[in-house]
Formats: sequence, structure tokens, C-alpha cells
Amino acid sequence: MIAGIRQDRLAAFARREAGIYAKARPKARKALAEGSRHFLGGVPMHWMADWPMPHLPLVARAQGARIEDIDGVTLDDFCLGDTGSMFGHSPAPVARAIRQQARRGLTYMLPTEAALEAGRLLTERFGPFRWQIATTATDANRFALRVARAITGKPKVLVFNGCYHGTVDDSFVSLENGVTVNSPGLLGQVADLTQTAVACEFNDLASVEAALAKGDVAAILTEPVMTNSCMVLPDPGFHDGLRRLSKQYGALLIMDETHTISSGLGGYTRVHSLSPDIFVVGKCVAGGMPTAVWGLTDETAQRYEEANARRAPGRSGMGTTLSANPMQFACLVANLSEVMTPENYAHMEKLAERLSRGLARVIDRHKAPWHVVRVGARVEFICAPGPLKNGTQAGYAHQPQVEAAIHTGLINRGTLIAPFHNMMLISPATKKAQVDRLIASFDAILSDLFQ
Ligand code: PMP
Repeated sequence: MIAGIRQDRLAAFARREAGIYAKARPKARKALAEGSRHFLGGVPMHWMADWPMPHLPLVARAQGARIEDIDGVTLDDFCLGDTGSMFGHSPAPVARAIRQQARRGLTYMLPTEAALEAGRLLTERFGPFRWQIATTATDANRFALRVARAITGKPKVLVFNGCYHGTVDDSFVSLENGVTVNSPGLLGQVADLTQTAVACEFNDLASVEAALAKGDVAAILTEPVMTNSCMVLPDPGFHDGLRRLSKQYGALLIMDETHTISSGLGGYTRVHSLSPDIFVVGKCVAGGMPTAVWGLTDETAQRYEEANARRAPGRSGMGTTLSANPMQFACLVANLSEVMTPENYAHMEKLAERLSRGLARVIDRHKAPWHVVRVGARVEFICAPGPLKNGTQAGYAHQPQVEAAIHTGLINRGTLIAPFHNMMLISPATKKAQVDRLIASFDAILSDLFQ
């Protein structure tokens, strides 16, 4: 049995669904056979090879919460670019901003009036931080860490076992029998990351305090909710504890809201009144235009200015040439003012609640030993009992074989969900009928698997 399912039943289901998928996409198969050889590993981005279907589709277009491939198959998109398109594909105000800015130049290394407006809107939406613009959340996290080390003069970042903050080298450590080790699987890793990072379990304040007490931690880098394995919610008091301990031991608290921006207006930080020293959000913040932002509280900004003034002349190690370009600002203004609105969040929340309840009902009916977690517009079914407390439990809860079969089964029934975990996002464009179709398809699949 895997996740309560008989192995032979799962294998038969997976085989049948793979066949159905491939039969529906002859054009993509042919085009990939001819055109993919120019790419390393046959794909333009290596993890595209990790989708569970027999081969990739080639997308023709996407709009709102629908995505269509070159074989004419249209899917309800609940993956939404793994949050990059959480506000829907090409939201109208963002698409309009792109068209207008395209007539005025794409990158200058100089600010625009829209840049000033974006700064005002960022503060209005997320709180009184001093902002910087990056292109990816990875970069924003890297720069935030550099600032934390500059301010504190300490070497280490404290991260949680099982976390993901982008390809920030320092964050690739894990726990093995309570000891921080270099995460296995990291390509070409020659440095010992445990010199500059320490891993603790999420929801374990005692281990956080023990690590901080060594006096060498510059910053805690965390998501408000662990979203990158199976979702793990914070225990009541966990965030208060992190805030208290980080202050007590002189470490900064960096909140990476790149996924938890689904929580509601202003992200989890605003919704739950957290008070990080540095706030980071990327992916969907400019409606899908590659953009990330990171902001420092006034006090942290003051300390940064002092550290910066002490610095020897030379390159700071922060910034990339195309960041803070006028297209990003045009999109930020459009997205923050017209898309990231209370009305849109209310719609997202309502349908996510419907999805979450619907999936939980199906799981109950089939007596599957599974559970559902929701963080605002973000819903996940987990093929193991819950709730999960930390990254170790979340790692064990993953059932890649089961998940892969279900994902392909859902695609064959008209729904795309995020690969690598069972994440579904609701956008402002998502319709009730799409949610209900997903619940019905999930029910049909479980009927087959648990019959
Ligand atoms: N932070 C979190 C919480 C993420 O989930 C991710 C990506 N999944 C990142 C940062 C990195 O984002 P990007 O790949 O856009 O740099």
C-alpha cells in the first residue's frame, strides 16, 4: 500500500492516464522530438523535465485561469506558474501597463515617476519598509541576507529544515539526526554550507533558541508558513517566539512572503500582524513580470546605512543590471493598485475555502488517510495524515508516485495543478465552476484509486 492505495491499482491507474495524456498531444510530441535537442537536457529550464506527464505540453496561450496548448487542449489552471501568475494570466491592468511602457523603453538604469508611485504603493500594501527592487525572490533573499550579515557582523543564517527560499546557496542545509548538514543533491557544491548556515525544525522554538544562543546567527530566514514541502502551519505563538528570540540574541528576522502572499492583502505579515526586520516578496508582486521586492524597517534601514558607510570602497555584491527597470515599475503600479485589491482577495479566499472544503469532503468519503491545508488562496491536499509540524514530517508525507499519477489524472480531466507538490491557487479570474470541476475530478480519481 502507498498512502492507503493498493500498489497494483495505482500502477494500473498511472499507466492508463499516461496513455490518455500522450494520445491527446500528438503535435507537442512531434514538435518536442524535433525542437528540444538545442536545450541542455532537452528543456529550457531543467526542472521542466520533472513534470510527471509522459512528455510536456507546449503552451499556445493563457488568459485568466485558463491555459491552452498547441494540441488545442484547454485546462483550468490552478498551478498559475507556481504563484508567478497567482493574480491570473495577463491581468488586464498589467497587460495594459506593459503595452504602454513598451512604447517608452524597456530598461534605463534610471527611475521613473512610476517608480516613486510603486514605492508609495508597496508601503501602503505591505507596511512601512524601505524598499529595493530585484528581479527574482532568490536575489531579494540573497541581498537581504547580505544586509543582515553587514549589520550584525555575524556569519550564519538560521533556516528551517525542508525550507526553500530560491537558489540561495546558504539555505541548502538540512537536519540529520538533529545535526545541520549540507543538503544532499546540490550540484557542484564544494563549500561547507554549515559554516554559514544552521538548520532547525519549524515550530521548535527550543532548537531555535539553542542555535541563536551560540551568538553567530545574523538572521532567521523563514516563510510564515512552510509552503515548499507539504504545507506546515505555524503553531500558535511560534512567530511571536521567533520575534522575541531573534531580538534577544541580536539576529534579524527576514520574512519571505513569496508564497504566503496568498494569505490576503499585505501577505501573512499584515494579516497576522507579524513584525519582521526585512520583508521579501517576489513572483506575483508585479502581476507576473519578473520582479521581487525587499524592504527594511526604519530601524534596520538606519543600521544598514551605518554599515554601508563603514564599508571599504568597492562592489557591494548587491544588485543586477536589469533590476528596477521601468517595465517592472509600470507593472508594480498596475498590480498593486488595480489587481492586488481587497475585492480580488475576497474572491480568492471564498473560492479557496470552497475548494478546500470540497477536497476534504472527498477525502473523508473515500476514507483516505490524507488531509487538506489552506493558506488564503493557496490550497494543498497532502497524501498523508495531518497536521504536519515540521519539515521532517513534511518530507515523509510526500508521496511522489501517488502525486504524479493524480496530477496526470487531473490534467486528463481538465485541471492543471502545481507539480512537485499538490498545490492549487485561486486567482481573481478563477470561476466557481472551475473549482467544482476540480473537486469532481478529484472525486473520480479517488473513486478509482480507493475502490
Ligand atoms: N522564496 C520562496 C518561499 C519560494 O517558494 C521561492 C520559489 N519557489 C523563492 C523564494 C524563489 O523564487 P524565484 O525562483 O522566483 O527566485
